[in-house]
Amino acid sequence: CGIIGIVGAEPVAERLVDGLKRMEYRGYDSAGICTIDDGKLVRRRAEGKLANLVGELKKNPAEGTVGIAHTRWATHGAPTEANAHPHATGEVALVHNGIIENFKQLRDELIADGRKFESETDTEVVVHLISRRIEEGKTPEEAMEIVLPRLRGAFALAVAFRSQPDLLIGARLGSPLVVGYGEGETYLGSDALALAPLTQKISYLEEGDWVVVTREGATIYDKDNNRVERAVVHSGATA
Ligand code: GLU
Repeated sequence: CGIIGIVGAEPVAERLVDGLKRMEYRGYDSAGICTIDDGKLVRRRAEGKLANLVGELKKNPAEGTVGIAHTRWATHGAPTEANAHPHATGEVALVHNGIIENFKQLRDELIADGRKFESETDTEVVVHLISRRIEEGKTPEEAMEIVLPRLRGAFALAVAFRSQPDLLIGARLGSPLVVGYGEGETYLGSDALALAPLTQKISYLEEGDWVVVTREGATIYDKDNNRVERAVVHSGATA
């Protein structure tokens, strides 16, 4: 169970998988990545060890300089490829660590609204909640402001938007998430260790924070959507 995201100046697939390898010690049962390439969300997932995902990426590469990746430790739904993250619609892809406690109620609401589910996870409600707002014409920031207060439980999220290929959004409540600052690149990660080969310059998000990450840096908001500054520290994690 780990998350990494890169808004990069160079291709990201290999570096995302490398970040996942650095979080293997946390344990996992499946893995996946999604990049944004040429206006499309490109998703690759595999059951089992990271070697399976690497094999899948050899067969079907994922191009692009922006992407998110995940190792899953299943809490809701078997450890299958269909339940592996990222979960996605045509517009939005996301990875999640933690548990959405009120997912049943949200799922019923979304199904009544005509949304089609492809997995047994608690996570998939989040991608539909956000995608529904994007499809209505809301910006990624507006969508997050609407959706985050509806989620109960624990989460770290990294979200990619097909129509906004130069940003990622991260959020945390009850699960860790850090921002990393590079040269013309910015990162999200579950911990500083995952980002160690990329950067040592880290901000630790606080409970309820969410963040818009671009190549230029990060804009952080607290749970009341006020812009906040979080200290940039030297992580000391070694590559
Ligand atoms: N609850 C989610 C799932 O079962 C995320 C698990 C995790 O933290 O990896 O898919």
